[in-house]
Amino acid sequence: MNSQATAIRVEDLSKTFETAAVLHDFNLDVRAGELLALLGPSGSGKTTLLRIIAGLDFPDRGRIIFGRDDATRVPVQQRAVGFVFQHYALFKHMTVADNIAYGLNARKRSERPDKAEIKRRVGNLLDLIKLSGFADRYPSQLSGGQRQRIALARALAVEPRVLLLDEPFGALDAQVRKDLRRWLREIHDRTGQTTIFVTHDQDEALELSDRVAVLDRGRLEQVGTPDEVQEHPVSPTVLKFLGDTIEVEAIAQNGQVLVSGRPTPLTAPQGLTGPVKLYARPWQLQFADADAAHLHGTVRSSYRTQGRQRIEVDREGAKTVVVEASDTARLAHGREVGLRIVGGWVFP
Ligand code: ADP
Ligand code: MG
Repeated sequence: MNSQATAIRVEDLSKTFETAAVLHDFNLDVRAGELLALLGPSGSGKTTLLRIIAGLDFPDRGRIIFGRDDATRVPVQQRAVGFVFQHYALFKHMTVADNIAYGLNARKRSERPDKAEIKRRVGNLLDLIKLSGFADRYPSQLSGGQRQRIALARALAVEPRVLLLDEPFGALDAQVRKDLRRWLREIHDRTGQTTIFVTHDQDEALELSDRVAVLDRGRLEQVGTPDEVQEHPVSPTVLKFLGDTIEVEAIAQNGQVLVSGRPTPLTAPQGLTGPVKLYARPWQLQFADADAAHLHGTVRSSYRTQGRQRIEVDREGAKTVVVEASDTARLAHGREVGLRIVGGWVFP
């Protein structure tokens, strides 16, 4: 971990554009040295929050604190943040080395390292991003993924207190994104910089981060480790946003949760009784005989992805559900099946 790493506190932040409130009484603590993913659907306020943390925009109310310093009104140039955006273009007419050195060369003379020192730092950064031979190339001679790696090196060159990344891999294709995800995690483990990574991609957030903050319409729904948010989602919103979800009407009774009059393995939260909603993931449903099943339906389609079979089942008078099974022979279209709920969550 980086001994210089800075914690970030977002305190009672509110922001309104014209008449639309984009952030509401938003509170978030980012720990020194952690990689935090900001996850939320498009329009939930992620970019606005990141811009306010960067000092590119200012809140109506609330504060941004870096370490012990109130940074709320500090302009971006003095905030010592590095950022990379989805379309944060490199300077086309500059070599890779000059792009990386840009922030250092732009400093006033008294604060600028000398030429040899800048060259040394650029060399170290090129090693770090595994593009050592590329110093004299131009951006047009690089792939999209390589360009985003250079953009990250450029952000790191000024030794920022915090690193802010807004969907930096959003424009790249799936395989490159996956590689860069792992690569970014490795870089973070080496530099230990407090990093906020914005994404609307659940897998990206869950794979990459120490903790995930889930946003919905300008509010913080939940913050926790990837395990915590997946195992203990605080709301149906978080659950639905983290993956495919099946929603079933259920009854809470004496601590049990019943579906179609049959008990499920779930326990009802204390004090909850009467009609409730049960939510399950596709792998929390199993095929079962009619007399043991909670749900009934007919097979609409089935397909295989990465060794698992996903079967869509049409339920009479209810939404189609997706079942995931690892050992099921292909089920014929139209076949009647029973389903048992073997896991899930209950909300009022
Ligand atoms: P996200 O990054 O999660 O997609 P944004 O922070 O970009 O969300 O936007 C949140 C909401 O604020 C959206 O409804 C968007 O239209 C609105 N918004 C963002 N920036 C501005 C602006 N400069 N002026 C007016 N509305 C804005
Ligand atoms: Mg955005």
